[in-house]
Formats: sequence, C-alpha cells, structure tokens
Amino acid sequence: MEHVHDYLIIGGGMAADAAAKAIREVDPAANVGLVGAEAQPPYKRPPLSKALWKGDKSVADIDLATAASGAVLHMGRRIELLDRVARTARDDHGDSYRYRRLLLATGATPRRLPFEGGERIIHFRTLDDYQALRRYAKPGAFIAVIGGGFIGCELAASLCALGCKVSLLFPGGTIGAGRYPEGLARYLDAYYRDRGVDVRSGVRVEGSNPTDGGVELTLSDGSLLRVEAAVAGLGVTPNTALAEQAGLAIDNGIVVDAQLRSSDADIWAAGDVANFHNPALGRRLRVEHEDAAVSMGRHAGRAMAGVAGEYTVLPFFYSDLFDLGYEAVGLLDTRLEVVEDWREPNREGVVYYLDGGRVRGVLLWNTWDQVGAARELVAQAGPFDAATLHGRLPQKT
Ligand SMILES: Cc1cc2nc3c(=O)[nH]c(=O)nc-3n(C[C@H](O)[C@H](O)[C@H](O)COP(=O)(O)OP(=O)(O)OC[C@H]3O[C@@H](n4cnc5c(N)ncnc54)[C@H](O)[C@@H]3O)c2cc1C
Repeated sequence: MEHVHDYLIIGGGMAADAAAKAIREVDPAANVGLVGAEAQPPYKRPPLSKALWKGDKSVADIDLATAASGAVLHMGRRIELLDRVARTARDDHGDSYRYRRLLLATGATPRRLPFEGGERIIHFRTLDDYQALRRYAKPGAFIAVIGGGFIGCELAASLCALGCKVSLLFPGGTIGAGRYPEGLARYLDAYYRDRGVDVRSGVRVEGSNPTDGGVELTLSDGSLLRVEAAVAGLGVTPNTALAEQAGLAIDNGIVVDAQLRSSDADIWAAGDVANFHNPALGRRLRVEHEDAAVSMGRHAGRAMAGVAGEYTVLPFFYSDLFDLGYEAVGLLDTRLEVVEDWREPNREGVVYYLDGGRVRGVLLWNTWDQVGAARELVAQAGPFDAATLHGRLPQKT
C-alpha cells in the first residue's frame, strides 16, 4: 500500500509529537504522517523511571494525544528503507510513504549487556520495558539495577521506594562519578545506602544464568547475585542506520545545520538522534534530554512548514533521585574546573563547570526556576571564578 504525505515524520517519540503539532500550527491544512516502530502513539518517556512508579501518574496520563493534531499515525511500523531521490520510505510491512518534506526523529537505542540474558534482564527505554519490569518489581522482590547513570539511579530510587530490595551495580567509583563533584557523589552513595539500596561500585555484570523464578548474575569481582529481575541503563546510541543508508552526513548522530536541516535540504532531524551546533557553548552537541527533543521537534516542524529561524536553545535537563532533584544546563564534566556554591552542603546549591573562565555547565541542585539565568551565564564571555560566582544564583525574580 502507498501512503502520500506532504510532511512525513519517521519516529514516534517526543520529538516526533512536537513536530507534528508544530507543523499543524503553522499549516492548518497540512497532510502529516507519522510512522513509529512502537505500538503505542507518542508518550512522555521520563515518567517511565519516575512518576509511574510513585503512582501519581498512570499510563493514560503520559499519552501525548498526537492524533489530535490531525496527523495520521502509522504505529507499529519501522521504516527500513529511505530513497531520497524518489522521496519515498518503505516500512517493515512493505507499505511505502511518499513525502515532500521529511523529519527523522528516530531517537536512540539502549546499549546492551555483552550477553543474552532472557526476558528477566530488561534494557530499559520504552513503555513495553516499563510494563515488563512492573511484572517482576513487586514489594519485597530482589531487583538488580545495572548502570549508575541517569536511568539507573532514577530506577534504583523508584524501585526502592516501592519496597523492592535493590542492588545498584556500576563500574565507576561512585554514583555520578565524572558528573558530580566528588563530595556530592559520595554523599549520594551514602544517601542511597541509607535508604536501603545495596550500592556496589566498581563492578561489571559479566554473565547470567536463569534460576528457578529469577536470574543469577556473575559479577566482575567474582561474586554471584541472585535476583528476580535485572534492569539495565547503560546509555544509548543514536538510531542513525536509516540516515546512513540514505547517505546523509553522520557524526555521532545526524549532522544538522542551524535550521536543524540535514545534509539533504528536504530532510530535517531532531531529538536524541540529531547532532546540532549550540552557539552559547560554541560547539556541536548531541543530547538525550526531554527539553531538547521537544524544542528541536517543535523547531524542525515549524521550519518544515516554512518558518525559518535558527535553533539556538541550550537544552536543560533534570532528574529526581528519591527526594533530591536538580535541573542543569550545558556540560557537567568534572574534568572542567568545578566551583561549588552550597547554601546547604549537598542539599541545596549550585555547581558551576568552567573552562578558561567561561561557564560551560551549571548544576542547579534542589535549586529551582534558575534555568534561564544559568543559560545566560553560559552565554556570557566572563571571565568567571569562584569569587564572582559565589551567591550569583538563585537570582531574585
Ligand atoms: C526512562 C527514561 C527517563 C528519562 N528521564 C529524563 C529526564 O528526567 N529528563 C530528561 O531531560 N530526559 C529524560 N529522558 C530522556 C528523554 O526521554 C529523551 O531524550 C527523549 O524521549 C528523546 O526523544 P526522541 O523523540 O528524540 O527519541 P525517542 O524517545 O527514542 O523516540 C524515537 C522513536 O522512534 C522510533 N523509531 C526509531 N527508528 C525508527 C524507524 N526506522 N521507523 C519507525 N520508528 C522508528 C523508536 O521506536 C521510538 O519510538 C529519559 C529517558 C528515559 C528512557
């Protein structure tokens, strides 16, 4: 079967949803088609590791209502071939889609453990993964969380709060090593332990064997860990295969210009898959954050519908860890010069990451409504140091 759309969006995540809505806003008569590999229409991904576990949001609440934009949704279909000359895409059911303008919002895929572990080892990304984990994660169940990054730490906190017995396993020295200053990282380790999480730093999971009603993990320190299920958050890789096959420029993601256009003038890219230039940082970035997915999707959608403009947003990101939380912008990298400005040590304050006197990243730890001010600091030439940054944020509103 052939489908014909003026605007075709490949991908069914938050960037795709934002683009569909933005196109319709600019061009109310637009014929928009969206093809997504997941069975569910676009939904908010961040609650999968947070609000859905607390019970203050249900699966119905995270639906983004994309169809209300008038876009035709082709869900449960994966585009396998893109022909830029014929301006067609073909899906895994053999249907083809003709387009005038195309958005690639194919997102990212979780990295996998180096062995096949069966259905009780879940590489966490999608609503299906959440539902699979939910089957095992009951109060009192032993669950291993593999990976000490954003997803692992959030899931460990959520599962622990639910009453699971959680082991958090990661190869680094501390939770968030390399991202948070050492004192804060150590505080977090203790914070997790105090709440009952079995924090095991410096270990890798090297293999697994099924057991009666669970799985036994082989750890790099020689020990074995029996759990009912394990969930892995090992980072992601951008889904560039389709763009590569079509001959678009790729460099850690699909390379886009200031308009979010790829190396083909009729194809845009947005979200986790796009590698874009940020003027405030003066460098290219590919980030995996909600704000980036939504703002880039929206920008690309408007651009596709004819509203030109440069994408200059420095996306912010956020996380919730038990009752701690933060928002942040830019580069959180402890190889940069780190300036800590605490109102209450490790509980409330701001951490700045500097390079040659310029602020390159700001971590707003339990400090709210300061994202705009933090973005402005990153855009400023400086020079800044500990003395000039002390007490600078929060700004009075
Ligand atoms: C559990 C979890 C918690 C998170 N929490 C936070 C948070 O607290 N703060 C924050 O800032 N960010 C968070 N993020 C990150 C944020 O959710 C992502 O950055 C954002 O969802 C990316 O959106 P996207 O649309 O670019 O890509 P994706 O969400 O990856 O969506 C891409 C979609 O395209 C589909 N697709 C891929 N290839 C094809 C193809 N060839 N044909 C058809 N469809 C295809 C995929 O199946 C997928 O449905 C979290 C992510 C996860 C997984």
